[in-house]
Amino acid sequence: MSITRRKLLASAAAAAALARAARAQKAAPGGGGSGPVAISSSNGLRAVERAVQLLQEGRDPLEAAIAGVNIVEDDPNDMTVGYGGVPNYDGVVQLDACVMHGPTARAGAVASLEGVKNPTRVAKLVMETTDHVLLVGPGARAFADANGFARENLLTEKARKVWLYWRQNLSATDKWLEPPPDKLDPEVKAFIDQFGWDDFRKPRSGGTIHLSAVDARGDLAGCTSTSGLFFKIPGRVGDSPIIGAGCFTDNEVGSAGSTGRGEANILVSGGHLAVELMRQGRHPKDACVEVLRRIAHTTREKRLLDAQGRPAFGITFYALSKSGEYGAASMYDASPTGKRAQFAVADPRGARKEDCAHVFQRRS
Ligand code: ASP
Repeated sequence: MSITRRKLLASAAAAAALARAARAQKAAPGGGGSGPVAISSSNGLRAVERAVQLLQEGRDPLEAAIAGVNIVEDDPNDMTVGYGGVPNYDGVVQLDACVMHGPTARAGAVASLEGVKNPTRVAKLVMETTDHVLLVGPGARAFADANGFARENLLTEKARKVWLYWRQNLSATDKWLEPPPDKLDPEVKAFIDQFGWDDFRKPRSGGTIHLSAVDARGDLAGCTSTSGLFFKIPGRVGDSPIIGAGCFTDNEVGSAGSTGRGEANILVSGGHLAVELMRQGRHPKDACVEVLRRIAHTTREKRLLDAQGRPAFGITFYALSKSGEYGAASMYDASPTGKRAQFAVADPRGARKEDCAHVFQRRS
């Protein structure tokens, strides 16, 4: 490398560090104050609150992140994560999750795990007690058995009814008869209203939880947990348990993760990309926007695009820097049902929801 080029790179790195430091001194919004911070998808308001409480008690950031996410995994009313999650094609709930611990730069993950409502806890054990990062399917289940996790039924009545309704409507040429529209079960109707389920054949989801946390010392952790795309092909694994996609944490820089169409995220390694953009000096929010632009740019298949050539799916990124700056961005400003894209954040000022940045406007 020539001296000039080396000098140029050194001064660019110094400028990026200065920009980070200058922003870190500014007060919220966007963070950067002192004290612990946790950021998550919008379904994680109680999760970020719990995580920050634990961080204020001096607990490890990963322990705090997982304890927060466990609240959502245990909640049967959240049909996108853990207990009560929408099942796969066969009516079986299969969960994906990962955890990443900044200080030790280690990670663990499980995919297509059945019968354990807290896959993040199993993922943490993969990280702590094995030489591996990712265990899947029956292997993940056997590992959970070995660690004393009971085999629980994760399929709630509501999720079963939703699955059955989907199955009955899936094809006009199979042996299932479509139920008469006036006999629609109220719980199934509530589900359809919530997710704007216009076409039963499309793989849909509208949830998952990602949570990234930083403590007052600047130590970071991240974790992501999901029941995946509704009615997915058995064994399908999304981005959530993939380190570098659904979650990535680098203790020197920050932590990031995602919810939404996992296939799109895997193809750009979005979690890792967001952290690398922060390393180059981008604010977490801008890093998230840039990852989404990359996804929009590389989505070429017609079936995945709308009439205006924009991605026909939802996806959101969340990012948190070592200095406590945070931000999130969504492909669209609102969901197909018109719900504003938001994320949850907690710091010593309390827990709240804030609006995500976005790349496209839903109605334009
Ligand atoms: N990212 C999840 C997956 O692809 C689904 C979602 O967040 O909606 O499995």
